Amino acid sequence: MKKIIVAKNVGFCFGVKRAVEATEKLLDELKSLSTVGDIVHNPLVMEKLKLKGLKVYNSIEDIKEKHFLIRSHGLSKNQIKKLKNSNFKIYDMTCPFVKKIHYLVEDLSNMDYNILIIGDKNHPEVLGIKGYGKDIKIIENKLDILRYKYKKTSKVAVVSQTTLNFDYYFDIVKNIIKLVKTKEILVLNTICKVTEEREKESIEIAKKVDAVLVLGGKESSNTKKLFEICKKECKYCFFVENFSNLSKINFNSFNNVGIVSGTSTPDFFIKEVIEYLKKFGYKEVA
Ligand code: SF4
Repeated sequence: MKKIIVAKNVGFCFGVKRAVEATEKLLDELKSLSTVGDIVHNPLVMEKLKLKGLKVYNSIEDIKEKHFLIRSHGLSKNQIKKLKNSNFKIYDMTCPFVKKIHYLVEDLSNMDYNILIIGDKNHPEVLGIKGYGKDIKIIENKLDILRYKYKKTSKVAVVSQTTLNFDYYFDIVKNIIKLVKTKEILVLNTICKVTEEREKESIEIAKKVDAVLVLGGKESSNTKKLFEICKKECKYCFFVENFSNLSKINFNSFNNVGIVSGTSTPDFFIKEVIEYLKKFGYKEVA
């Protein structure tokens, strides 16, 4: 029998679900709502929200609507201040796990810690976190560690982007401890459990199937990571953002297919993919 093994943790994570549901509800009430950047890195979801009236801008300066939603990635303190000064009605849907990092960074910065964020320099979540302390540095890789100067007498605190892979974070932290000679280095694990769990489950599934479908938007950083992880464990790994990606796969060659998804992939798409596979004789197994 041809089998489909679907990961237990698929679909929106708690933070994305909360932001998308709030956006839909607000659009029903207000008919128009603005945001900076996509609410979720998934074109299928964004298309639906835009059809309902969501306007997506690149910068706060361009916004024309009076109602503004902060997406789950959060915004820097300065950007929120700017919005408030311009009399926007703000709906803050920053994920509570991201908000927690904002508070941590703010407190640590007030306690004179030099803060290092490990993560993607261009990711909106990282840029938002950076805006909660003084002179925060972003470390993307080991080389970045030595790009900055650290006083021997200073205190350093390290936090991570929520979607980082734990082993990657731990490896950079070990290098920071080795290379940065300061009086104190405080390391905080701010990785979201949701992404950690999905990565672990994806490895298990990828090991036991002939092919893995990683469902999610090409711009979603956690989906991209899942794809990289699965590729190491399974020869046939496909990034599926939409149905046209599926039509290029020859399902006659695979007996068992695994399905995993990023945290911004909607349930309806996962269900549609499962139904599509059933046409090739696959049965979903627990
Ligand atoms: S991945 Fe975690 S931190 Fe990011 S939005 Fe989802 S629940 Fe929040």
